[in-house]
Amino acid sequence: MTRDPRYDVLFEPVKIGPVTAKNRFYQAPHCNGMGRTFPSSMAAMRGVKAEGGWAVISTEQIDIHPSSDITPATEGRLWSDSDLPYLARMCDAVHEHGALASIEPVHNGKIAANLYSREVPLFPTHMPVSMFNAPLQARAMDKADIRAYRRWHLDAVRRAKRAGFDIICCYAGHNLSLAGMFMLNRYNFRTDEYGGSLENRVRLFREIIEDTKDAVGDSMGVIVRFSVDELRGAEGLEADKEGRDIVEMLAELPDMWDVNIAEWDNDSMTSRFADEGYQEPFIDFVKKVTTKPVVAVGRYTTPDRMVAIVNKGIVDMIGAARPSIADPFLPRKIEEGRIEDIRECIGCNICAAWNNMSSPMRCTQNPTSGEEWRRGWHPERIAPRAVDGAVLVVGAGPAGLEAALAAGQRGHEVILAEARDELGGRVSLESRLPGLATWARVRDYRSYQISQMANIEVYKSSALSAAQILDYGIEHVAIATGARWRRDGYGRHHQFPISGTDAGNLLTPDDIMAGIRPAGDVLIYDDDHYYMGSVVAEQLVADGYRVTLATPHAMVASWTEFTLEQHRIQARLLELGVGIITCHLLRAITDSHVELACIYSGRRQQVEASALVMVVSRLPEDEIYQQLAADSDRLRDAGIKTLKRIGDCHGPATIAAAVYEGHRFARELGEEVSDISFARELSELATEFKLP
Ligand code: ADP
Ligand code: SF4
Repeated sequence: MTRDPRYDVLFEPVKIGPVTAKNRFYQAPHCNGMGRTFPSSMAAMRGVKAEGGWAVISTEQIDIHPSSDITPATEGRLWSDSDLPYLARMCDAVHEHGALASIEPVHNGKIAANLYSREVPLFPTHMPVSMFNAPLQARAMDKADIRAYRRWHLDAVRRAKRAGFDIICCYAGHNLSLAGMFMLNRYNFRTDEYGGSLENRVRLFREIIEDTKDAVGDSMGVIVRFSVDELRGAEGLEADKEGRDIVEMLAELPDMWDVNIAEWDNDSMTSRFADEGYQEPFIDFVKKVTTKPVVAVGRYTTPDRMVAIVNKGIVDMIGAARPSIADPFLPRKIEEGRIEDIRECIGCNICAAWNNMSSPMRCTQNPTSGEEWRRGWHPERIAPRAVDGAVLVVGAGPAGLEAALAAGQRGHEVILAEARDELGGRVSLESRLPGLATWARVRDYRSYQISQMANIEVYKSSALSAAQILDYGIEHVAIATGARWRRDGYGRHHQFPISGTDAGNLLTPDDIMAGIRPAGDVLIYDDDHYYMGSVVAEQLVADGYRVTLATPHAMVASWTEFTLEQHRIQARLLELGVGIITCHLLRAITDSHVELACIYSGRRQQVEASALVMVVSRLPEDEIYQQLAADSDRLRDAGIKTLKRIGDCHGPATIAAAVYEGHRFARELGEEVSDISFARELSELATEFKLP
């Protein structure tokens, strides 16, 4: 296939000072939960994206000094020459495919609690550290500290050049960088030449950029990454006030501007709260005040939108973090005219969540993310089948769809049987709940790919029984029959019976998604802590119900802190008038009220509600699997060689986990797999060791 000429503009080169990006696709710096802790995994992941056609591949934030130590976060590190080999490996992986490697050195200021290094944190002003609300304070930097910080940054720049990087990104974004923190009125109470007027507050960042430019000369491009607005109104930077003033003051200094909104939760809003291109109204002034090229992110996955923002003169390069994770080959697919093959990011922030839990990132759409090195999984290539035989996949949710697709790609004849009259399982149902429409991309990408493959047959409205599966006698069987929400309340906080759970006025999210509605006021009991309780609340408010949400946790949807959504979810529920009761357990349900108990005092309270929606935990729908697995003789007689359960039917979890399990089933079919199915990155013992 050939490229649509409408997209030619996306493949024009862009000069970034002395270096030239081969096209307009810029993989913005992004955390990945691998960094210095899982360095081979990080380097391989970046290399795959370079292979996928991104012209610039950046590191995540790379902390430059022990006083900037954000342990236990798994970010990059460049304290000394000892850190060069892993960064050099990343550069090699990027250069192998003709892309430019960019690095983002950072000093984290008061974000860093320095738990590993035990240095006293540094900041423009005396201030408690942010990490974990730890009982530690950053001290106000004196002039010697400022000189030292400039030197550390320069050391990092010089080392980066030796590692092989082509571009340095001077960072003042997301409220994560010391130089950026100096700019903010709410942090900088200094009375010297680094505080007070805007010019003074920007002085340190200007010096950092100038130092960098002097050091690299014509050998590297210099990008400035700056958040022009913090969405805090007058309490923070605003794009039409100091945010713009700062860009004007530094306009011609960098070789390119990378602009966004702060903090990370604003820059990486989920699809529940923002659409593609949501940053444009904040950053569209930048190109008007500088002659230098501009790049910005905005969860861009559609080439028409990309072309539009280039042609409108909003940006010169398309920045992407999440779209490059969901589809490392996005540029190549546009270039080759394969738009339908793009695995579009769904904006769920599972990638961010795993990083925020200090673990390698996972992606809902891309099951190979983070597996490039440790399992050798490539996002676009899969080995031909290792065994003969057809594959039967039972259930076409995310696990079943992915299993069928990947097994088909390996060359198996595949039959995919789905009980319902639509594909997608939970994704189809959940994507009809408020704010989750984009999640249907998980189904749409896979069902389209499957529709293009002659060796995969799909049967809808085909609920299979164990007896039928035995009758068919297909060699390799994957049971992907999903899970159902529990009614009995057993879960994280309740390992005891709750009186009244057998009553008729109790519903689960499955009932709500099936269109069943309660009578009268509703209490949602959320011991799940992810999105479901809050989206059910939104749905019921939209349907005209008076809703209260009670949870044992201190905040609504507490786990969504990891997906960067929690404060938006709580704010939305408050705006919708949902009553919120935190720190309470569920004790009893009657026809007219629900009884709750404070988790601390045990004090009881009654909430008037004629119905309860129980959002607590799920049970696998694994009856068919259990029936088949119980009789290995019958399996053998039927000619079934492989029987696996995958996805929620194996262990109820995220959609990302179900897609991964489906993919893993296909990858491992007929392969030898040891107990530890991936390569590990092990810390080495120091060669010299003396007892104190
Ligand atoms: P997962 O997230 O693990 O993919 P889902 O719950 O999304 O799980 O999908 C499971 C799918 O399996 C649902 O679409 C459901 O209708 C289907 N299913 C359940 N039991 C059967 C069965 N016996 N035969 C065919 N399909 C089934
Ligand atoms: Fe996009 Fe979700 Fe994948 Fe992150 S995990 S890249 S938000 S699809």
